[in-house]
Amino acid sequence: MVFTTKSRRRARLRAEPLPDHSWRIVEVRMPVFGRLSVEDRQELLGHARVLLEEKHFEGAGGLLMRDEVRLTVAAQAALLLLHRDTDYFPRLKSIIVYPTGYVASETTRDEGGIWTEGDESLLGHTQRDLRAIVLAWDEVRAGAADPGDGHNLVLHEFAHQLDFEDGSTDGTPALDSGAQVRSWAQVMGDELEALRRSADAGEPTLLDPYGAEDPAEFFAVATETFFERASQLERRHPQLYDELRRFYRQDPARW
Ligand SMILES: [Zn+2]
Repeated sequence: MVFTTKSRRRARLRAEPLPDHSWRIVEVRMPVFGRLSVEDRQELLGHARVLLEEKHFEGAGGLLMRDEVRLTVAAQAALLLLHRDTDYFPRLKSIIVYPTGYVASETTRDEGGIWTEGDESLLGHTQRDLRAIVLAWDEVRAGAADPGDGHNLVLHEFAHQLDFEDGSTDGTPALDSGAQVRSWAQVMGDELEALRRSADAGEPTLLDPYGAEDPAEFFAVATETFFERASQLERRHPQLYDELRRFYRQDPARW
């Protein structure tokens, strides 16, 4: 194995224990933390520590950036990194946090191919070339506080960042082998189609119908459901659960 300066610095950061008050913030703000094994808790805080060091956290719209906000974001994002080789969301530089839903001017493309700017109220947002994630703090806090409602803004936006790592926004993160790419494409394609059919028919779905938008949103929504409604996902969509279990190297239905 080649140890670069970067990987040595990260290993050193992961090994430094976080101060007690940081542990307490994560325990209080993120109840799912208490369900993890002792080893996973330590690994998660180590990853969070690297994110806190390497990413620029910025308050906007009057939000004063503070440890509680930084830790609640970083610890949830770190859940996506457990047990895997990671380069810590390399396309991401900044995490910008507003107190609540914010209005962003969004560039959209209509059916005639014309790009327009329009104001849209958002809770969170990221884009491949933006190099930033924008989040609403009230939604970040609520998502962490209820780990079983199927919605988690931080997991959603950081799952998009995992998708970007291989250079394309297509709902397929970097996978280990050709066989995994093929089975991922098959399962994700079938599940996205099934979600579209159910959403069109107005049937209730376990996955948020927003995931029917495109493969990238499907992966982000499926990630939220995987971590937050693991047992139901495993029972009702066993193949989807299995693909995500292999990718994330975690089995949250057993937590
Ligand atoms: Zn999204």
